[in-house]
Amino acid sequence: MDYKGKIYRPWMEANSLLIQTTLGCTHNKCTFCDMFREKRFQIRKIEDIFKDIDQARQIYPQIKSIFLIDGNVLVLKTDFLLQIIEKITSTFPECSKISLYAGLNDLRRKSVEALTQLRQAGLSKAYVGLESGDPVILKRIQKGLTPEQAVAGMANAKAAGIDILVSIIFGIGGRNRSGEHIVETTRLLNLMAPEELAPMALTVQPGTELADQIATGDFIQASPLQILEEETYLLENLNGFPTFYWGDHGNNILSLKGRLPESRELFLKRVRQAIETHPVTKKTVLLTTPW
Ligand code: SF4
Repeated sequence: MDYKGKIYRPWMEANSLLIQTTLGCTHNKCTFCDMFREKRFQIRKIEDIFKDIDQARQIYPQIKSIFLIDGNVLVLKTDFLLQIIEKITSTFPECSKISLYAGLNDLRRKSVEALTQLRQAGLSKAYVGLESGDPVILKRIQKGLTPEQAVAGMANAKAAGIDILVSIIFGIGGRNRSGEHIVETTRLLNLMAPEELAPMALTVQPGTELADQIATGDFIQASPLQILEEETYLLENLNGFPTFYWGDHGNNILSLKGRLPESRELFLKRVRQAIETHPVTKKTVLLTTPW
């Protein structure tokens, strides 16, 4: 496999075959993210992508799940992406899941017809980063997304039957905007009702604009207690839409994973217990591991 540069995939896709279709991210401006800083966005040649797919077939006798990388793969023209998905389904007939990274704006810009074509060809799920539902924070982190655009992107995905995993970041509002962050994020999630939800505690990647803002005092990190309070608010105020909660990222204070709303009370019990007894609540800042 001819992977270029640093490779990222969601932790839920640890057992998936990764097929690189693009290099980098078209946006590449979020202040907290250094995933694709060293890459200029490019679309790989279709023959190189097909070569990787054929090579993987030689190596792996069974592939159940495939994840398309790098950053927002859904920015690709629908016909191009259809060719890749059709090549995958013909090469790996046993593969039951094809997923990719997408921007909510990519979903918004594609028509429901185009997304339905992709769904019918075999695309089952897209991973999107919302990070926050607060328009002030979205602007500060240079997400290039408004809450209205997020809702519109989600509506297109739902109309096409593509499952969406939304990731949000606890602590992205910092110490001074923790309340607004979680209230607005929860409100937006209740409108979007994603099939899966992945909350992650903020990780400060060295060399990012966010790291500089912390160094100059322009951004004060939320405390671990605030992060737990954000999780409490979220769990208390999601309005009962069915979703799978992936609160088990390695940098989270607690590892909570399961279906909502069924697991809501159990998760809340654990978060409230942590607020009372977890030693991390005495710290000013949550120590996380950059990736
Ligand atoms: S967070 Fe996503 S959209 Fe923003 S720069 Fe990183 S990969 Fe691109």
